[in-house]
Amino acid sequence: MKIGCPKEIKPQEFRVGLTPAAAAEAVGRGHEVLVQTGAGEGAGFADSDYTDVGARIVPDAASVFGDAELIIKVKEPQAAERRMLARGQILFTYLHLAPDADQTRDLLDSGVTAIAYETVTDARGGLPLLAPMSEVAGRLAPQVGSWALQKANGGRGVLMGGVPGVRPANVVVIGGGVVGTAAARVAVGMGANVTVMDRSVPRLSFLDDIFMGRLTTQFASAAATAGAIRSADMVIGAVLIPGAAAPKLISREQLSTMPPGAVLVDVAIDQGGCFQTSRATTHQDPIYEVDGIVHYCVANMPGAVARTATQALGNVTMPHLLALADKGWRRALSDDAHLRAGLSVHEGQLTSPPVGEALGLEA
Ligand code: NAD
Repeated sequence: MKIGCPKEIKPQEFRVGLTPAAAAEAVGRGHEVLVQTGAGEGAGFADSDYTDVGARIVPDAASVFGDAELIIKVKEPQAAERRMLARGQILFTYLHLAPDADQTRDLLDSGVTAIAYETVTDARGGLPLLAPMSEVAGRLAPQVGSWALQKANGGRGVLMGGVPGVRPANVVVIGGGVVGTAAARVAVGMGANVTVMDRSVPRLSFLDDIFMGRLTTQFASAAATAGAIRSADMVIGAVLIPGAAAPKLISREQLSTMPPGAVLVDVAIDQGGCFQTSRATTHQDPIYEVDGIVHYCVANMPGAVARTATQALGNVTMPHLLALADKGWRRALSDDAHLRAGLSVHEGQLTSPPVGEALGLEA
């Protein structure tokens, strides 16, 4: 099959859908791989990294979209890209169709078979093509938070690990799922004094087991949260209620109860944010201050580490990409119910009931 990978055009997107490692595997199985020139640049992959493994570099997006049978990307196709899609093509990427009526209509009109990364499932009921990005954002959270804690950035001038004779930073992680666990791991590694709060007791038990006393777990009642933030140098917001906006767990009034110069890192900002005073920021201008508390609320945190994020995404998309290319969509989807869960649009039909419900369309 002809697999094509265009350069991402969404602003601030530096990842690429196909790594040279995945290209090599596809070529090794007899597939033809087309990559737009410069597609890997943002993630630190040169055109030669692709040609070295047998892929062909093409000059523009039209050469990818015009020729490939299977298109692999990162972000949902932008309007200009959607105009280049053709009937019969397979599109494999993040789509996030539910809030995006224009994209859904264009994909239906194009006649493509579109498979959304974010709804592919696994045997444990997880979302394996979303999890690596949560891991990246989670591990990054204490890293950016510790930078924000530095005096020059408005923070309270506290070192995460302290030094002998001086206590380390108090870090409170609210939400102990994929993001929260990854954040806790790095914060513990940096030597901070870490508390993870969640409303799921089984989740707290799991964290208690795996961290073996290196952090404290606490049930996230409103009162416990109010108490914990009073002595927090950093609070990392990592909650998720599937299908709903993030609950607001710290109010504006509560900011005055925190130590001045403390830092809030709101990873849940892509779901509206879990602090009342959160508003989305960008990598160019990531922090702002409200009532003396530094806020970091970048909605696409993995973009800061595009190379790591590209490789992490490539590892989990690769087996599905190869199945689609080896078997064609019909057999790949019928053989694998988890991949089939990603099927969103097929030759003019909407095949995702939740998207249909969100947009008032038949699915
Ligand atoms: P997850 O489902 O693995 O974990 C969420 C956790 O929150 C669960 O353990 C749940 O029990 C807990 N929770 C729910 N309500 C709570 C409450 N009121 N108090 C305390 N805990 C509560 O989800 P995840 O993959 O870890 O994602 C967390 C958030 O991070 C999501 O909003 C996700 O969209 C976001 N995210 C953001 C970025 C970014 O770049 N900003 C990247 C990846 C993920």
